[in-house]
Amino acid sequence: MSDCLFCKIAAGEIPSDCLYQDDQIFVFRDIDPQAPVHFLVIPKEHIASAACINKTNSGLIAHAFEVIANLAEKMELDGFRIVSNVGERAGQSVQHLHFHVLSGRDMTWPPG
Ligand code: AMP
Repeated sequence: MSDCLFCKIAAGEIPSDCLYQDDQIFVFRDIDPQAPVHFLVIPKEHIASAACINKTNSGLIAHAFEVIANLAEKMELDGFRIVSNVGERAGQSVQHLHFHVLSGRDMTWPPG
């Protein structure tokens, strides 16, 4: 989508601190980290949120989770949290599906 921030980041049109990419997935550090390790995992294809996951695109989502598991192993993360905010009330500020991966500190439950 031409006016989407994360589409532009995935296309390399806006700079980011990229940790990994392949033909389907782009991973980069969050600009405002909420933990010592905080990166975002996004599909290169524009999907508005996790509410738009369906039979057609769910293979891509499974791949995203494989990428997360592989990165967590490589980065030797000692526990991590995966978060995807859906909709304004849940705190979604960018309308392109993204999985936050947070690590490097103790996490509390329930989240705020
Ligand atoms: P959410 O509020 O769940 O939609 O998450 C959006 C995330 O994108 C926030 O954690 C922001 O800090 C992050 N963010 C916004 N702009 C950028 C950017 N240019 N580069 C990296 N992260 C960003």
